Amino acid sequence: MEGVSVLILGGTAPARALAKLCVAEGLATTSSLAGRVSHPKLPEGDVRIGGFGGVEGLSGWLRQHRIHAVVDATHPFAEQISRNAVAACAEVGLPIASLVRPSWHDLEGSERWHWVADHAAAASKAAEIAQRPFLTVGRQRLKAFESLADRFCLVRVVEPPSGPLPESWELLLSRGPYEFEDELELLAGHAIDCLVTKDSGGEMTVAKIHAADQLGVPIVIVERAQPETSGPQFDNPEDALEWLKSQSPTEG
Ligand code: NAP
Repeated sequence: MEGVSVLILGGTAPARALAKLCVAEGLATTSSLAGRVSHPKLPEGDVRIGGFGGVEGLSGWLRQHRIHAVVDATHPFAEQISRNAVAACAEVGLPIASLVRPSWHDLEGSERWHWVADHAAAASKAAEIAQRPFLTVGRQRLKAFESLADRFCLVRVVEPPSGPLPESWELLLSRGPYEFEDELELLAGHAIDCLVTKDSGGEMTVAKIHAADQLGVPIVIVERAQPETSGPQFDNPEDALEWLKSQSPTEG
């Protein structure tokens, strides 16, 4: 009997974990990466890299590759690809689930945590309360923080930003996961007085939150948008695998 053929929309650690489980289970597994990072950590199984060309391109790809089920395991702030995936699966008639790291809302916060709706609001809050913020919002969102050009900012990104940063900012190129002790040293060593982050969630980059709490440093956190999903949502790869195994290879 033909096995289930799956597409994992990836670019995240949970996506790589799911790909590994799927391969071990013998599912025909393709992971898709956007191609934003020059030396990506590659998942097990087949990998394709680059945009599909919107909903139409993704629908065509799903049909051409006879995919039976899709798991959207992209980052919670990768909103466009998630919208496209829901629309393409509806068009082709395929089941889709999402795999997303648990929100940091699940952690015990404090009165020093400021949840904000978007990056513009994060910039306003940081401007109000900080002279030496640490920006961990991803390079694509740095433009929203231009109002902080008048002060020191420590900016940590995986890939170099496309344009120049203000002279008063310090750029740190690195990729998680991060350890608590290292984060403590980084924040204290730069006299950081505010951590700015988005609610990426999960364990891989949570050490900065614990370090800021330990040092009494306020945290500005950008809320996730409502998840774009028409199917089940999982917060761990094992449950997503069980769902995939339950899908019929004849669907679609
Ligand atoms: P996005 O704004 O939601 O997507 C923009 C376009 O990039 C999509 O329309 C699609 O192009 C392409 N794309 C995005 N993810 C793709 C994937 N996994 N495979 C193939 N094409 C993809 O995405 P983003 O926020 O730039 O994130 C890009 C990738 O980086 C995602 O895979 C995400 O998991 C990963 N990532 C993002 C963040 C973040 O903070 N946003 C953090 C860590 C990792 P077409 O329309 O041409 O198909």
